[in-house]
Amino acid sequence: MRKIIHIDMDAFYASVEQRDNPELRGIPLAVGGGGPRGVVAAASYEARKFGVRSAMSGAKARQLCPHLVFTRPNFEKYKEVSQQIRALFLEYTDQVEPLSLDEAYLDVTNPKLGPPSATIIARELRRRIFETTHLTASAGVSYCKFLAKIASDLNKPNGMATILPHEAEAFLEKLEVEKFHGIGKATTAKMHKMGIFNGHDLKQHALHDLVRRFGKVGRFYYNIVRGIDDRAVQSHSIRKSLSTEETFNTDLGTTEEMMEQIALLADDLQRRIERADNPGRTLTLKVRYADFRIVTRSKTLDHDIDKAEEMIALAAPLLEDTEAIQRKVRLLGLGVSNLRKEREEQQREQVGPGEQLMLEF
Ligand SMILES: [Mg+2]
Repeated sequence: MRKIIHIDMDAFYASVEQRDNPELRGIPLAVGGGGPRGVVAAASYEARKFGVRSAMSGAKARQLCPHLVFTRPNFEKYKEVSQQIRALFLEYTDQVEPLSLDEAYLDVTNPKLGPPSATIIARELRRRIFETTHLTASAGVSYCKFLAKIASDLNKPNGMATILPHEAEAFLEKLEVEKFHGIGKATTAKMHKMGIFNGHDLKQHALHDLVRRFGKVGRFYYNIVRGIDDRAVQSHSIRKSLSTEETFNTDLGTTEEMMEQIALLADDLQRRIERADNPGRTLTLKVRYADFRIVTRSKTLDHDIDKAEEMIALAAPLLEDTEAIQRKVRLLGLGVSNLRKEREEQQREQVGPGEQLMLEF
């Protein structure tokens, strides 16, 4: 059985800005654009009290909190802090899977440093993150990713929780479905209509029933409500994607300009794939609009994508599926995932020994 920690920095971008700008402390703060088409990238806890959330439009946020202060994001700085935190993680384990700049899974089943207790390591990491960055983090500890992620939210901000293996099922039975990571608003509404409000209700449905109603992801729901989640922490030693991106000095406004840039990115990506000898089956187009909001669009094929021409052909309809023209574009990125080497690694993992050890958490 694994020992997994999920670390999540508290209101990350907003906390960095408050740390570095004393005049922003203690006030409702939104990082992002405050203009008519701006979007909130992160909100301070003072702003959250008014209902301001990330991904909300700047206009809506201002409506909820008229004295909200907006500040521009500084991604370079966030990246630096993120690297400081990652360096701490790597002292304890090489199995670190970053989910974003401020969130990561750590597998500490066999830690390089500290006692073999994930709870103690998590506590130590939170203390050291604070000493190093003067920022607070929350942590969740459990035997799988799904529960570690949920646990990190339980005592947020600046808190932590451990869900022990024998507590998992009872915990999940009481949990409301909207709190299940991976169950979004639409699915929640659908489940409510079916009379499913918590894990206990969800458990009453047979596997074939959930698959019939929700498709493939029904199997995921069936498993997680029973505390079954075998996904390994994917450290960077196994690459999950290859990508390239470009930020523009002037925002792009026409399809021609964008496709021209996509062609350049595709050439670059083809070279990267050749160098890594690692093609993938999923192509993802990343678009950052002029208002800093990021969207991605993906297409998965049943064969490896390794040629620039094919990428360009696939990217055109993906671009059309965004609001690139209306919103203007600040950055474009192209990536492949579902990589061949990753698929090979996963196959190897499935034949590994299924030892079940009750370890001290
Ligand atoms: Mg966070």
